[in-house]
Amino acid sequence: MPPIADWAAELATRERQGLLRRRRVLQSQQGPHVIIDGQHRLAFCSNDYLGLAAHPALTEALKGAADQWGVGSGASHLVCGHHQCHHDLEQALAAHTGREAALLFSSGYMANLGVIAALTGRGETILQDRLNHASLLDAARLSDARLVRYAHNDMGALKQRLESVDKPALVVTDGVFSMDGDLADLPAMAQLCQDHQVPLMVDDAHGIGVLGAQGGGVLSHFGLSPEQVPVLMGTLGKALGVYGAFIAGSQALIDYLVQKARPYIYTTALPPALAAATQVGLQLCRDESWRREQLTALVQRFRREAQGLGYELMPSATPIQPIMVGSAHEALRLSTALEEQGVLVTAIRPPTVPLGGARLRVTFSAAHTEAHLDQLLEALAKAREVVHGA
Ligand SMILES: *Cc1c(COP(=O)(O)O)cnc(C)c1O
Repeated sequence: MPPIADWAAELATRERQGLLRRRRVLQSQQGPHVIIDGQHRLAFCSNDYLGLAAHPALTEALKGAADQWGVGSGASHLVCGHHQCHHDLEQALAAHTGREAALLFSSGYMANLGVIAALTGRGETILQDRLNHASLLDAARLSDARLVRYAHNDMGALKQRLESVDKPALVVTDGVFSMDGDLADLPAMAQLCQDHQVPLMVDDAHGIGVLGAQGGGVLSHFGLSPEQVPVLMGTLGKALGVYGAFIAGSQALIDYLVQKARPYIYTTALPPALAAATQVGLQLCRDESWRREQLTALVQRFRREAQGLGYELMPSATPIQPIMVGSAHEALRLSTALEEQGVLVTAIRPPTVPLGGARLRVTFSAAHTEAHLDQLLEALAKAREVVHGA
């Protein structure tokens, strides 16, 4: 750790490089129209893909459950904090993902730490895609196993690593890559893992609710079985509109994690009312397929017209649609140019993305309308000259 005086110097350096992260204060519900730092903006940057984060049915469920169960869970799951609401939600999530069982965690970050550290140990190797989410990479640090990364979605590279590393114990990938929006080549990965008898874990934070029939996720999209992908992680704070995460898999996997996953064992259980509200989010996700159809329509039109304006997009068919810019300063300039026209899209800069990979991460929600998209495209047209390389 640098001495205290250096903290300020580090902040100044980051500011100069256009890399200083700042928090904006949201003063409204999440949704297409937000108030942020006192300003009204049309927002394209949340992960509230299905538009459920402020849905009245969820807020009603939360209030009703808080009246019945109170606010705090009061204890960890293994002491006396495992409420009926948690138990019911676990069963619903297992059914939703077509797996025997599911286990709730307080967040996706903690689920990833818990499962990876529990399933791997000293002398073993964890294989991960180079662009995996930070929580997966951090999980490998918490584990006693060694981490080996392979080039993004490069199945030749993965095969080579599987053949050469010591005791490969787990292959881990994002299902939908969180900053690029593309899908992992899961059918090929499942085959490679089967050939080498190594379990495959998929982090489906951005696929649950968005992909597959009834929003079953990326595994349902590809038609992959629990045998092909024995460890599935999903989050509840993105498409499902609430907070928390789960691991789904065989009963044996879940029973094992209850014994071994420290970020499950040594933490307070989620407020039970959040689990009750998530049940309603899950039901709406399953029943209202118009939300996924709306997303598809928005994404297709955005891609056609933004590319028509000369912007460089990534090969993504999901609601994550990055506009590639390159330098952090240019990404900030484009983001500012949009904001001056009332449109909020956050610039994503290193180290969240590789150096030279700064971008505007546009995300869509089923709550966006065609008129909202018109406004985004008009703002992009006017901001066109801000980005040189695009
Ligand atoms: C958001 C995210 C997580 C973390 O989930 P939280 O519930 O927000 O902690 C994990 N993995 C991926 C790929 C994510 O995008």
